[in-house]
Amino acid sequence: MLLCAVADDLTGATDLALTLAREGMRTVQVVGIPPADFDYGDAEAVVVALKSRTIPAAEAVALSLEACRRLTAAGAEQIIFKYCSTFDSTPEGNIGSVAEALHAELGGALTLACPAFPANGRTVYRGHLFVGDMLLSDSPMKDHPLTPMTDPNLVRVLQQQTALKVGLVTRDTVEKGSDEIGAAFRQAAERGEGIVIVDAITDDDLRAIGQAAAGMRLITGGSGIAIGLPENFRRAGKLGANGTEKGLAAPKGKAVILAGSCSTATRRQVSVAIKAGTPALKLDPLDIAAGRTTVDSVVDWVASITDAIPLVYSSSDPEDVRRAQQALGRDRAGELVEHLLGEVAFRLTSLGYCRFLVAGGETSGAVVNRLDVQALFIGPEIDPGVPWTVSIGREEPLALALKSGNFGGDDFFLRAWDLV
Ligand code: ADP
Repeated sequence: MLLCAVADDLTGATDLALTLAREGMRTVQVVGIPPADFDYGDAEAVVVALKSRTIPAAEAVALSLEACRRLTAAGAEQIIFKYCSTFDSTPEGNIGSVAEALHAELGGALTLACPAFPANGRTVYRGHLFVGDMLLSDSPMKDHPLTPMTDPNLVRVLQQQTALKVGLVTRDTVEKGSDEIGAAFRQAAERGEGIVIVDAITDDDLRAIGQAAAGMRLITGGSGIAIGLPENFRRAGKLGANGTEKGLAAPKGKAVILAGSCSTATRRQVSVAIKAGTPALKLDPLDIAAGRTTVDSVVDWVASITDAIPLVYSSSDPEDVRRAQQALGRDRAGELVEHLLGEVAFRLTSLGYCRFLVAGGETSGAVVNRLDVQALFIGPEIDPGVPWTVSIGREEPLALALKSGNFGGDDFFLRAWDLV
């Protein structure tokens, strides 16, 4: 095992595992903290998916440390702390708190923070995060139900979350290549900085940053930061023959789409699917709270659709989300939906459903936890960052496409099935 990662949510972990696989590493993704005796097989890269993005910071720190210790005990040379490419966090954490704890755990040398993911339009310039053509704070992330992002300046955002001194390596340095970036890292360390935001607007930037970070024990960022890291191991002669492309042996059986994301892309995907004739059931957290919508009623509805792949969704526009949150509280509204979709998925497995397309990071975490999926093979990519996966370790394998809310093209719900 060479390169390992602790990811703060499931879809992000999948996305990272996919990046590492694409760059030629044999990659296994584990859901939750792996047991001490977990069999990683011949994995060169292991990504541990936690569900720690929005839990209390102290819990996120404890979980992340435990995962990190399991991975270093199993031989990991370098650890990535993976978070969202839109830097999803609040002033309480959890990016800064977890990075700080892992930084101390892994020896206290300088680390970097780079959420850039150019293929998905996330770029960092002069420390500011852009989502497509918009600053983070103008993007739909300003209305995220759990982690609204209202400041695009990552140095400022991160400094609020950690006692480590936060620095910045700008594009002027990054574009000069890995030697200059490495020199900037050394200077930052001399200035007493513990973590530096690093600008990146292209994949070439990420490769140069990756090369400069060859010796870092800890690296933090979005999945993009992993683009340049496998090459360091290849150069050192440590990587085996190419890749994990094993093809996907997807189980055959019934399929369903569960969408708990309210992100713009998911809402578009829902509406495109409905326009194309997909039978759809909309969930309202208020109905769930009042017992008007139940696990039974949703399962019965899904089972009644026999001539198409049904869509169950709670995806709503920001105004509806606010209304539900005002009535129920932010966390409770989210939990009601997550819990219901998890239970529905669980009940559907006993009715022969074995292909699940799930939209939403937190939502996917809830579903996978309830289905007791421990580890995943990474299969073909539907859209950038979203592969089909097949569960390992379960008696009845499941095909799962776990989509981060904002990922995927408009016809994602329709097109995804072509690959299985
Ligand atoms: P994304 O990947 O888009 O961030 P997530 O699933 O991670 O999606 O987060 C969306 C959160 O919003 C979840 O906790 C979900 O349960 C909650 N949620 C979903 N629908 C609604 C709704 N209609 N009102 C309030 N909260 C909702």
